[in-house]
Amino acid sequence: MMAAIRAAGFGQDITLLERKDSVGNKLLLSGKGRCNLTNAGDLEYFLKRFSKNGSFLRDAFKVFFNRQLMDFFEQRGLKLKVERQMRIFPQTDRSASILDILKKELEKSGVEVIHKARVVDVLLSSGKVKAVRLEGGRDIPCDKAILACGGASYSFTGSDASGINIAGRLGHEIVPLQPGLVPLDIKQGYPKKLEGLTLRNIRLKFTGGKSQLISEIGELVFTSSGISGPLVITLSGRVVDMLAQNKDVSVEMDLKPALSSEQLDKRLLREFKGNARKSVKNALKELLPLRLIKVFIEAAAIDPLKKCSQITQEERRKIISLLKGFRMDISGSRPIEEGMVSRGGVSLKEINPKTMESRLVKGLYFCGEMIDIDADTGGFNLQAAFSTGYLAGESASKTRDVSLPNRGTVPI
Ligand SMILES: Cc1cc2nc3c(=O)[nH]c(=O)nc-3n(C[C@H](O)[C@H](O)[C@H](O)COP(=O)(O)OP(=O)(O)OC[C@H]3O[C@@H](n4cnc5c(N)ncnc54)[C@H](O)[C@@H]3O)c2cc1C
Repeated sequence: MMAAIRAAGFGQDITLLERKDSVGNKLLLSGKGRCNLTNAGDLEYFLKRFSKNGSFLRDAFKVFFNRQLMDFFEQRGLKLKVERQMRIFPQTDRSASILDILKKELEKSGVEVIHKARVVDVLLSSGKVKAVRLEGGRDIPCDKAILACGGASYSFTGSDASGINIAGRLGHEIVPLQPGLVPLDIKQGYPKKLEGLTLRNIRLKFTGGKSQLISEIGELVFTSSGISGPLVITLSGRVVDMLAQNKDVSVEMDLKPALSSEQLDKRLLREFKGNARKSVKNALKELLPLRLIKVFIEAAAIDPLKKCSQITQEERRKIISLLKGFRMDISGSRPIEEGMVSRGGVSLKEINPKTMESRLVKGLYFCGEMIDIDADTGGFNLQAAFSTGYLAGESASKTRDVSLPNRGTVPI
């Protein structure tokens, strides 16, 4: 949408082809329906949030960055707000407000939007774009085409990797797709007992072979088959990489990161002394959420009804080691369909970062999630999509050979 709007700004004849019966379906889901549009951090902060290859975006960000994106919406009447970690949301708390503005702007710019138009191929003549082919066989002539088909997750929104496959068929190297920002599965049966439980203020340590990943302090949520929540989602891409290299990957939850083992020992001694006649199960209520206690005591192999006064030093040590490192084994990640982003896609080696044009096919441009770029949560992925879209639209329209007798630029 941004590519089309920008391209139309140069007075070109623009058609946007969308395979679904409406545009922006993933955008509507973004930020749990509130759309974390971008982030107020500066350029260096941004670039660090990309899992790799962030510096590829320098040129796109130079042309159209977070301030310009915020201005785009604010100048069209949408108020924005900054939340924790500099995340930007619409004040309405509705992603539909963002989409409404984009749709109005498409209309105002004279972009022809054709729904239910699934692109299956880009046709070339002497190495240059000459048309795009729709499912059903209709060809739409054009001298420029921008592929903006997204990744492969949440495919019901429309992004089913078809754009990446078209790029691959045209000879572009494709970095294999992997799930990013994705929940993880664990081997033990805990999730069945803990599904829906949120643990706050904990820290995670993932270990696979010699590599370790240590999270910040934050939140984890148990799913029906494993773990999710901000801490897990943020590190998930690197855990997927770890899984590819190591057979055994585990995670240890530090349930009390603010306390050292010694401090915890003192605290437990105090708790157990003051509640000598209470069962250990009841005494732990001061330290752990209710639903976790049963699973925790099972893992510690302690009789839950044992009185605090009877807890041995050995058992107390076991409790402390579990509080500081409750271990679970990772069996894998959820499939790419369930990732918030796809990692991999069209290789950056074959895209000119100053224009987003393919280095192999003249007149073909790429933008958004289908290129080999992905970032952490926080508004970085949408900003990357908007920035690369803007640059692709601008470059495609600016350099158009107007003598060519065809339809113009076709952002797909
Ligand atoms: C649940 C969820 C929440 C998210 N929340 C955030 C967030 O708050 N902030 C953030 O920065 N990022 C968020 N993301 C990531 C962000 O939404 C994506 O990175 C972004 O939408 C990518 O934009 P895109 O235009 O490249 O692709 P998409 O938004 O996927 O759009 C691609 C479009 O192309 C169409 N299309 C695909 N193939 C074809 C074809 N062959 N022919 C015609 N049309 C085609 C699709 O139907 C779709 O409309 C979230 C993702 C998910 C899944």
